[in-house]
Amino acid sequence: MARIVALECVHCGQRYGADEVDYFCPGCGYHEGILDVLYDYDAARGELSRSALAANPNRNMWRYLPLLPVANAALIPHLQVGWTPLYETQRLARELGVARCWIKDEGRNPTASFKDRASAVGVVKAGEKRAAQVTCASTGNAASSLAGFAAAAGIPATIFVPRRAPQAKVAQLLVYGARVFSVEGTYDQAWELCMQAAAEFGWYNRNCAINPYLIEGKKTVSLELAEQFAALGPEVFPDWVVVSVGDGCTIGGVWKGLKEMHLLGLLPRLPRLLGVQAEGCAPYVTAWRERAALRPCAAETLADSIAVGHPRNFAKGMRAVTESGGAFVEVADEEILEAMTLLARKAAVFGEPAGVAGAAGVRRAVAQGIIRRHESAGLIVTGNGLKDIASAMQAAGQATAVGAGIEAIRNALGVAIAK
Ligand SMILES: *Cc1c(COP(=O)(O)O)cnc(C)c1O
Repeated sequence: MARIVALECVHCGQRYGADEVDYFCPGCGYHEGILDVLYDYDAARGELSRSALAANPNRNMWRYLPLLPVANAALIPHLQVGWTPLYETQRLARELGVARCWIKDEGRNPTASFKDRASAVGVVKAGEKRAAQVTCASTGNAASSLAGFAAAAGIPATIFVPRRAPQAKVAQLLVYGARVFSVEGTYDQAWELCMQAAAEFGWYNRNCAINPYLIEGKKTVSLELAEQFAALGPEVFPDWVVVSVGDGCTIGGVWKGLKEMHLLGLLPRLPRLLGVQAEGCAPYVTAWRERAALRPCAAETLADSIAVGHPRNFAKGMRAVTESGGAFVEVADEEILEAMTLLARKAAVFGEPAGVAGAAGVRRAVAQGIIRRHESAGLIVTGNGLKDIASAMQAAGQATAVGAGIEAIRNALGVAIAK
């Protein structure tokens, strides 16, 4: 079991015991006072040595229990989360203009997105608190993920989504049995509404930017990356790890996991992080370029999962990229759609728009000289393409309609009649 030493406010540095606060720093409030979970890393070092990991039969995120905030392992849901595949793809590397390229396919999680790593921890914590209900607001994936894990844990869920959430994600919510509020408004408005409702009705809040434990789930992708790359050779690790950014919890979690593996001696060197946003909603990129504070903006992109005009975890997201010596780039929606078919055709991985935005970002970063051609990139494909069919059809076009006879096929192919 992990030993949590403290919860530390990223804004004021104040430390709290794990039993003292549930969510954010009371002094700084939820806009600023996001907490970091700190462990007894000396204790974890023994339990997570190379030999201990090699002997661990768990092929899922729970193999890292010494670095996870779980007090009662009996509450771990039965679903298989994590240990998603890592593929090297040379054809994609050539297309993107880098020396080597790997894909970590997070669409292979139980509800088909990266968010499952966070929700899995969320329902364990809700169970430990004996919560009668769990809630979250989401552009879609955190919602469908929480609905799935609430079903696994047997806890009722109430979910707030913006009206524009793709239908497949809403369908997931309803099938898993969540109570769904489709909010007339943006994700940002749904988020505020969820915060109010959670406070008023006492529901356990899975919103990743205020609940310090959720990022702990998200970081497990990096713990896996360290192990999966170590298996490929002692010095093999991408120069850049690439992830799309909305609230910033994902990239914050990715960085925390990398740093922890480095601290434990399980990662030879830290990569740079490339944070990718959509042009129509790029508050991180703007703040990065202008070295300025966050300015919330409109959210105009088909990549619904990163359509976040007011990032709720700006401090952690910005810190991750800055500390890593990385960069933020933005990509147009057309580049995202192009990346979708590129990934599918060159690597046979089908991602949703926010899932493939990272690949578009690599191209941009290479064009801008941020990533050099001799460098390598690891892409975290955060969500499965079937979650947003409308965008997929926009990227790939329509099927050729034909009659049910060979004539029609010959005509369509433009070939002469066979002898
Ligand atoms: C949530 C999500 C992201 C971005 O994560 P943030 O924590 O909001 O930055 C990226 N891709 C997909 C598919 C997501 O669902």
